[in-house]
Amino acid sequence: MGIHRQLCFLASLLLAIQTGVISQPATDHEFAKKYLMSFYNLVYPVPDPTVRMQDPLPEKLREMQKFFGLNVTGTLDKETLKVMKKSRCGVPDVDGFFTFGKKTTKWQKRHLTYRIMNNTPDMSVAEVDESMEKALQVWAKVTPLKFTRIYSGTADILITFATKDHGDGNAFDGPNGVLAHAFTPTPGIGGHAHFDDDEFFTFRSLKGFVLFLVAAHEFGHSLGLPHSKVPGALMFPTYTFIDPDSFSLSDDDITAIQSLYGPPGPPTTPTDCSNLVWDAVTTFKRETMFFKDSFLWFSSPRRNEAKLPIKSFWPSAPENIDAAYEDPVEDIVFLFKGQRVWAFSGNDLEPGYPKPLSSFGLPESVKKVDAAVHDSNSGKTLLFSDKYYFSYNEKLNKMDKGKPKEVENVFPVVTGKVTAAHMADDKIYLFSGTNLYEFSSSNKNLLRRLKNNYFLFC
Ligand SMILES: [Zn+2]
Ligand SMILES: [Zn+2]
Repeated sequence: MGIHRQLCFLASLLLAIQTGVISQPATDHEFAKKYLMSFYNLVYPVPDPTVRMQDPLPEKLREMQKFFGLNVTGTLDKETLKVMKKSRCGVPDVDGFFTFGKKTTKWQKRHLTYRIMNNTPDMSVAEVDESMEKALQVWAKVTPLKFTRIYSGTADILITFATKDHGDGNAFDGPNGVLAHAFTPTPGIGGHAHFDDDEFFTFRSLKGFVLFLVAAHEFGHSLGLPHSKVPGALMFPTYTFIDPDSFSLSDDDITAIQSLYGPPGPPTTPTDCSNLVWDAVTTFKRETMFFKDSFLWFSSPRRNEAKLPIKSFWPSAPENIDAAYEDPVEDIVFLFKGQRVWAFSGNDLEPGYPKPLSSFGLPESVKKVDAAVHDSNSGKTLLFSDKYYFSYNEKLNKMDKGKPKEVENVFPVVTGKVTAAHMADDKIYLFSGTNLYEFSSSNKNLLRRLKNNYFLFC
């Protein structure tokens, strides 16, 4: 190389450095290449010596720069590299495998189920539960969509924490970089959301990644949304910390999701349930379920009333049930109808069920159970039938000795039949028609008289 050419080279190098162009080491170039292959569908055709190949990289760089509102230079400048180094979602910004080539896939139903398959060691189970629930509510608030959590079986949105290769051909990359990815609504894996557990997820801290924010973004994909070009939109590809308490969806996100599912619809005039006589009531995990005919309602402090068909929750469950209770130790819910009992673990029917009432040691004379409640203090389950209740010892799996007790003798205020019962916060709740009585679990003293919709928003 002559001295002149060397000088020329140095001069152009200097110019390049001054303008922030191509001064990047080869590793940055490789990094950018991988980035564009992952998120901008950059592909290198098989080399053909007879054809003069054009490097596809600058064109893809331009595409990426345009997406992020950067100077469209087609070269790997500092600003571009800086954006590429930001932690982000693993879903491509242009059509890729996550959308299966279709832009507007969406769910054909309004009621979706979700299931949390495992947890991250970074947070408590309760924090993960709340983060996921809140993240789904972000979308539920602006659409007619409703989300119900299930604990077994196949959910529309399966939520998994995983690291590196986790079986879907889209391996995670260790700490930082890609935080999570999710699949647009299609049969099979569609809707599922995966979180890179090599990240440190937090409930609300600035350090690490706020799970609620990452999840809310991913669920946007689970519902069919692509990435947004609008900085500040939830569906923007890169992660930005926002205090979960002051989070709100951008107009861009709302317009996008409503173009798929429409607005929430008129405020769902909730069916007035103050005059309903519940068939049965039971706790379920940390929530309470109310049964009427072929429907059940969920109530919990965090989930507003949501009515759904019993069959959609437990396909093998009976309708118009008589009574229900949860054995929280064994984590099983029992449903009574006529002279049969069904037992469910999560969403699955326990083997051997339905069984006859006699399996509880109830006498032949009992033709049906009107209400049931498990008292977690005493470990006993009270089975109400007509004017009496039987006491079943869950630990010994047998009925207490002696005659059944008369309801009125123990709960003097309840003069009618007990039609439903459940326990919450150390209190026993007995429903009799549209009346609801709250008793102390320990001394059976009446604490309050309540309306039968006390636990619900209907
Ligand atoms: Zn994304
Ligand atoms: Zn995955």
